[in-house]
Amino acid sequence: MNSVSGVTPASQHDVLIVGGGAAGLTLALSLANRLPAGPRTRRVTLLRPAREAQGASRWAQGGIAAVLAPEDDVESHVADTLIAGDGLCNERAVRFTVGHSREAIEWLIALGVPFTPADADASYPFHLTREGGHGRRRIIHAADATGRALLDTLSAHVEAHPNIEILEDQLAVDIAVNAGRASGLWVMDGTGQRQWLAANDLVLATGGASGLFAHATSPSASVGDGMAMATRAGASLMNLE
Ligand SMILES: Cc1cc2nc3c(=O)[nH]c(=O)nc-3n(C[C@H](O)[C@H](O)[C@H](O)COP(=O)(O)OP(=O)(O)OC[C@H]3O[C@@H](n4cnc5c(N)ncnc54)[C@H](O)[C@@H]3O)c2cc1C
Repeated sequence: MNSVSGVTPASQHDVLIVGGGAAGLTLALSLANRLPAGPRTRRVTLLRPAREAQGASRWAQGGIAAVLAPEDDVESHVADTLIAGDGLCNERAVRFTVGHSREAIEWLIALGVPFTPADADASYPFHLTREGGHGRRRIIHAADATGRALLDTLSAHVEAHPNIEILEDQLAVDIAVNAGRASGLWVMDGTGQRQWLAANDLVLATGGASGLFAHATSPSASVGDGMAMATRAGASLMNLE
Protein backbone atom coordinates (compact mmCIF):
# COMPACT_ATOMS: atom_id res chain seq x y z
CA MET A 1 0.00 0.00 0.00
CA ASN A 2 2.80 2.46 0.88
CA SER A 3 4.89 1.94 -2.22
CA VAL A 4 4.17 4.13 -5.23
CA SER A 5 6.84 3.03 -7.68
CA GLY A 6 5.31 2.76 -11.16
CA VAL A 7 1.98 4.36 -10.08
CA THR A 8 1.02 7.71 -11.61
CA PRO A 9 -0.19 10.27 -9.01
CA ALA A 10 -3.70 11.68 -9.41
CA SER A 11 -2.33 15.16 -8.69
CA GLN A 12 0.86 16.94 -7.58
CA HIS A 13 1.06 19.28 -4.55
CA ASP A 14 3.73 21.52 -3.04
CA VAL A 15 2.59 21.33 0.59
CA LEU A 16 -0.18 18.88 1.45
CA ILE A 17 -1.79 19.37 4.88
CA VAL A 18 -4.04 16.63 6.23
CA GLY A 19 -6.76 17.77 8.66
CA GLY A 20 -8.99 20.81 8.82
CA GLY A 21 -8.97 21.45 12.59
CA ALA A 22 -7.33 24.41 14.33
CA ALA A 23 -3.83 23.07 13.57
CA GLY A 24 -4.35 22.36 9.86
CA LEU A 25 -6.23 25.58 9.13
CA THR A 26 -3.71 27.73 11.03
CA LEU A 27 -0.76 26.19 9.24
CA ALA A 28 -2.42 26.50 5.83
CA LEU A 29 -3.10 30.20 6.37
CA SER A 30 0.33 30.94 7.85
CA LEU A 31 2.14 29.20 4.98
CA ALA A 32 -0.08 30.64 2.26
CA ASN A 33 0.45 34.18 3.55
CA ARG A 34 4.23 33.74 3.36
CA LEU A 35 4.40 32.34 -0.16
CA PRO A 36 6.14 34.54 -2.67
CA ALA A 37 3.98 35.79 -5.50
CA GLY A 38 4.52 33.79 -8.68
CA PRO A 39 2.90 32.32 -11.74
CA ARG A 40 1.37 29.42 -9.78
CA THR A 41 -1.37 30.62 -7.48
CA ARG A 42 -2.23 27.40 -5.61
CA ARG A 43 0.61 26.05 -3.54
CA VAL A 44 -0.91 24.87 -0.26
CA THR A 45 -3.43 22.04 -0.32
CA LEU A 46 -5.63 21.23 2.67
CA LEU A 47 -7.30 17.85 2.70
CA ARG A 48 -10.25 17.20 4.97
CA PRO A 49 -12.76 14.38 5.26
CA ALA A 50 -16.54 14.52 5.18
CA ARG A 51 -16.53 14.02 8.95
CA GLU A 52 -14.76 17.36 9.39
CA ALA A 53 -17.33 18.70 11.85
CA GLN A 54 -16.32 15.92 14.22
CA GLY A 55 -12.73 17.11 14.78
CA ALA A 56 -11.94 18.16 18.36
CA SER A 57 -11.47 21.86 17.53
CA ARG A 58 -15.14 22.61 16.96
CA TRP A 59 -15.99 21.14 20.38
CA ALA A 60 -13.56 23.24 22.45
CA GLN A 61 -15.52 25.48 24.76
CA GLY A 62 -13.53 27.12 27.54
CA GLY A 63 -11.03 29.18 25.56
CA ILE A 64 -7.33 29.65 24.83
CA ALA A 65 -4.66 30.25 27.48
CA ALA A 66 -2.24 33.07 26.66
CA VAL A 67 -0.21 35.79 28.37
CA LEU A 68 -2.46 38.79 27.71
CA ALA A 69 -3.29 40.81 30.84
CA PRO A 70 -0.65 43.37 31.92
CA GLU A 71 -0.47 41.67 35.35
CA ASP A 72 0.42 38.29 33.75
CA ASP A 73 3.87 37.20 32.52
CA VAL A 74 5.49 34.42 30.47
CA GLU A 75 7.44 32.93 33.40
CA SER A 76 4.37 32.30 35.56
CA HIS A 77 2.46 30.78 32.63
CA VAL A 78 5.44 28.51 31.85
CA ALA A 79 5.68 27.48 35.54
CA ASP A 80 1.95 26.66 35.74
CA THR A 81 2.20 24.61 32.52
CA LEU A 82 5.21 22.61 33.71
CA ILE A 83 3.46 21.78 36.99
CA ALA A 84 0.25 20.73 35.22
CA GLY A 85 2.32 18.68 32.74
CA ASP A 86 3.71 16.65 35.66
CA GLY A 87 7.08 15.91 34.06
CA LEU A 88 5.84 15.17 30.54
CA CYS A 89 6.34 18.65 29.05
CA ASN A 90 9.16 19.52 26.70
CA GLU A 91 10.20 22.78 28.35
CA ARG A 92 11.55 24.28 25.11
CA ALA A 93 8.21 23.66 23.41
CA VAL A 94 6.35 25.14 26.38
CA ARG A 95 8.55 28.27 26.39
CA PHE A 96 8.15 28.70 22.64
CA THR A 97 4.36 28.29 22.76
CA VAL A 98 3.77 30.50 25.80
CA GLY A 99 6.31 33.06 24.58
CA HIS A 100 4.41 33.40 21.28
CA SER A 101 0.92 33.20 22.80
CA ARG A 102 0.22 36.94 22.74
CA GLU A 103 1.12 37.31 19.07
CA ALA A 104 -0.95 34.21 18.21
CA ILE A 105 -4.01 35.72 19.89
CA GLU A 106 -3.38 39.10 18.25
CA TRP A 107 -3.30 37.27 14.89
CA LEU A 108 -6.65 35.62 15.66
CA ILE A 109 -8.17 38.95 16.75
CA ALA A 110 -6.97 40.53 13.51
CA LEU A 111 -8.59 37.69 11.55
CA GLY A 112 -11.86 38.50 13.29
CA VAL A 113 -12.39 35.73 15.87
CA PRO A 114 -15.30 37.15 17.95
CA PHE A 115 -13.72 36.93 21.41
CA THR A 116 -15.94 38.12 24.27
CA PRO A 117 -15.13 41.73 25.22
CA ALA A 118 -14.30 42.73 28.80
CA ASP A 119 -15.99 45.38 30.95
CA ALA A 120 -14.85 48.91 30.21
CA ASP A 121 -12.73 49.17 33.39
CA ALA A 122 -10.79 45.89 32.79
CA SER A 123 -7.01 45.93 32.23
CA TYR A 124 -7.33 43.96 28.96
CA PRO A 125 -10.00 44.62 26.31
CA PHE A 126 -11.20 40.99 26.10
CA HIS A 127 -12.69 38.98 28.95
CA LEU A 128 -10.24 36.54 30.56
CA THR A 129 -11.26 33.61 32.74
CA ARG A 130 -9.14 31.53 35.09
CA GLU A 131 -9.15 27.76 34.59
CA GLY A 132 -7.72 24.81 36.49
CA GLY A 133 -3.93 24.84 36.81
CA HIS A 134 -3.61 28.55 36.00
CA GLY A 135 -2.54 31.02 38.69
CA ARG A 136 -3.81 34.02 36.70
CA ARG A 137 -6.83 34.95 34.59
CA ARG A 138 -5.52 34.20 31.10
CA ILE A 139 -8.18 32.27 29.13
CA ILE A 140 -9.55 34.32 26.23
CA HIS A 141 -12.83 32.94 24.91
CA ALA A 142 -15.77 33.45 22.57
CA ALA A 143 -18.70 32.99 24.95
CA ASP A 144 -18.79 29.22 25.62
CA ALA A 145 -18.17 28.12 22.02
CA THR A 146 -14.59 29.22 21.41
CA GLY A 147 -13.69 26.32 19.13
CA ARG A 148 -16.65 26.90 16.87
CA ALA A 149 -15.88 30.64 16.59
CA LEU A 150 -12.22 29.86 15.89
CA LEU A 151 -12.96 27.27 13.20
CA ASP A 152 -15.64 29.36 11.49
CA THR A 153 -13.23 32.31 11.25
CA LEU A 154 -10.20 30.29 10.14
CA SER A 155 -12.25 28.27 7.64
CA ALA A 156 -13.65 31.43 6.03
CA HIS A 157 -10.12 32.81 5.51
CA VAL A 158 -8.75 29.49 4.22
CA GLU A 159 -11.66 29.01 1.82
CA ALA A 160 -11.17 32.53 0.41
CA HIS A 161 -7.36 32.35 0.10
CA PRO A 162 -6.09 32.30 -3.50
CA ASN A 163 -3.01 30.21 -2.56
CA ILE A 164 -4.97 27.43 -0.82
CA GLU A 165 -6.72 24.57 -2.54
CA ILE A 166 -9.12 22.48 -0.45
CA LEU A 167 -9.75 18.82 -1.19
CA GLU A 168 -13.06 17.97 0.46
CA ASP A 169 -14.44 14.60 1.47
CA GLN A 170 -11.10 12.81 1.27
CA LEU A 171 -9.82 10.44 3.92
CA ALA A 172 -6.07 9.95 4.22
CA VAL A 173 -5.30 6.25 4.37
CA ASP A 174 -1.53 5.92 4.17
CA ILE A 175 1.62 7.91 3.55
CA ALA A 176 3.14 7.10 0.17
CA VAL A 177 6.80 6.21 0.57
CA ASN A 178 9.28 6.27 -2.28
CA ALA A 179 12.93 5.30 -1.80
CA GLY A 180 12.54 5.73 1.96
CA ARG A 181 11.05 9.22 1.69
CA ALA A 182 7.44 10.36 2.19
CA SER A 183 6.37 11.39 -1.28
CA GLY A 184 2.64 11.92 -0.82
CA LEU A 185 -0.52 10.38 0.41
CA TRP A 186 -2.90 7.54 -0.38
CA VAL A 187 -6.46 8.85 -0.02
CA MET A 188 -9.95 7.39 -0.28
CA ASP A 189 -13.04 9.32 -1.40
CA GLY A 190 -16.65 8.81 -0.32
CA THR A 191 -17.17 6.07 -2.90
CA GLY A 192 -14.23 4.06 -1.57
CA GLN A 193 -12.00 4.82 -4.54
CA ARG A 194 -8.29 5.11 -3.68
CA GLN A 195 -5.65 7.24 -5.35
CA TRP A 196 -2.33 8.73 -4.44
CA LEU A 197 -1.48 12.42 -4.32
CA ALA A 198 2.17 13.36 -4.79
CA ALA A 199 3.51 16.06 -2.45
CA ASN A 200 6.87 17.72 -1.89
CA ASP A 201 5.99 18.30 1.78
CA LEU A 202 3.36 16.48 3.79
CA VAL A 203 1.94 17.66 7.14
CA LEU A 204 -0.21 15.49 9.39
CA ALA A 205 -2.59 17.67 11.43
CA THR A 206 -4.95 14.80 12.16
CA GLY A 207 -5.55 15.43 15.86
CA GLY A 208 -5.44 13.03 18.77
CA ALA A 209 -6.51 9.49 19.57
CA SER A 210 -8.72 9.76 22.64
CA GLY A 211 -11.73 8.68 20.57
CA LEU A 212 -10.25 5.18 20.89
CA PHE A 213 -11.39 5.04 24.50
CA ALA A 214 -14.88 3.97 25.50
CA HIS A 215 -15.38 7.09 27.63
CA ALA A 216 -13.95 10.38 26.34
CA THR A 217 -15.19 13.90 25.68
CA SER A 218 -13.38 13.84 22.32
CA PRO A 219 -15.30 13.12 19.14
CA SER A 220 -15.25 9.53 17.97
CA ALA A 221 -13.40 10.56 14.78
CA SER A 222 -10.21 11.19 16.83
CA VAL A 223 -8.81 7.70 16.51
CA GLY A 224 -5.15 8.42 15.80
CA ASP A 225 -5.23 7.84 12.01
CA GLY A 226 -2.28 10.19 11.51
CA MET A 227 -0.15 8.49 14.15
CA ALA A 228 -0.88 5.08 12.68
CA MET A 229 0.02 6.28 9.16
CA ALA A 230 3.23 7.86 10.44
CA THR A 231 4.23 4.65 12.20
CA ARG A 232 3.62 2.56 9.10
CA ALA A 233 5.80 5.01 7.15
CA GLY A 234 8.65 4.48 9.64
CA ALA A 235 8.23 7.37 12.14
CA SER A 236 8.78 6.87 15.87
CA LEU A 237 6.04 7.96 18.28
CA MET A 238 6.53 9.16 21.83
CA ASN A 239 4.47 10.20 24.88
CA LEU A 240 1.36 8.39 23.65
CA GLU A 241 0.01 8.39 27.21
C1 LIG B 1 -14.96 18.69 24.36
C2 LIG B 1 -13.62 19.34 24.18
C3 LIG B 1 -13.36 20.56 24.78
C4 LIG B 1 -12.12 21.17 24.64
N1 LIG B 1 -11.91 22.41 25.19
C5 LIG B 1 -10.74 23.04 24.99
C6 LIG B 1 -10.51 24.37 25.47
O1 LIG B 1 -11.39 24.99 26.06
N2 LIG B 1 -9.31 24.95 25.24
C7 LIG B 1 -8.31 24.30 24.55
O2 LIG B 1 -7.22 24.89 24.37
N3 LIG B 1 -8.48 23.04 24.10
C8 LIG B 1 -9.66 22.41 24.28
N4 LIG B 1 -9.85 21.15 23.79
C9 LIG B 1 -8.74 20.53 23.07
C10 LIG B 1 -8.67 21.11 21.66
O3 LIG B 1 -9.95 21.10 21.07
C11 LIG B 1 -7.71 20.29 20.80
O4 LIG B 1 -6.45 20.20 21.41
C12 LIG B 1 -7.53 20.91 19.43
O5 LIG B 1 -8.77 21.22 18.85
C13 LIG B 1 -6.76 19.99 18.52
O6 LIG B 1 -6.75 20.57 17.23
P1 LIG B 1 -6.19 19.73 16.02
O7 LIG B 1 -6.33 20.57 14.80
O8 LIG B 1 -4.84 19.21 16.37
O9 LIG B 1 -7.13 18.45 15.95
P2 LIG B 1 -8.65 18.32 15.44
O10 LIG B 1 -9.46 19.54 15.67
O11 LIG B 1 -9.18 17.03 15.99
O12 LIG B 1 -8.46 18.21 13.88
C14 LIG B 1 -7.95 17.06 13.27
C15 LIG B 1 -8.61 16.94 11.96
O13 LIG B 1 -7.96 15.92 11.19
C16 LIG B 1 -8.95 15.21 10.50
N5 LIG B 1 -8.48 13.85 10.26
C17 LIG B 1 -8.22 12.89 11.16
N6 LIG B 1 -7.86 11.74 10.54
C18 LIG B 1 -7.89 12.03 9.21
C19 LIG B 1 -7.65 11.27 8.05
N7 LIG B 1 -7.28 9.96 8.11
N8 LIG B 1 -7.79 11.85 6.82
C20 LIG B 1 -8.15 13.15 6.72
N9 LIG B 1 -8.39 13.93 7.80
C21 LIG B 1 -8.28 13.36 9.01
C22 LIG B 1 -10.18 15.19 11.43
O14 LIG B 1 -11.37 15.07 10.69
C23 LIG B 1 -10.07 16.52 12.14
O15 LIG B 1 -10.90 17.48 11.56
C24 LIG B 1 -11.08 20.53 23.90
C25 LIG B 1 -11.35 19.28 23.30
C26 LIG B 1 -12.60 18.70 23.42
C27 LIG B 1 -12.86 17.39 22.75
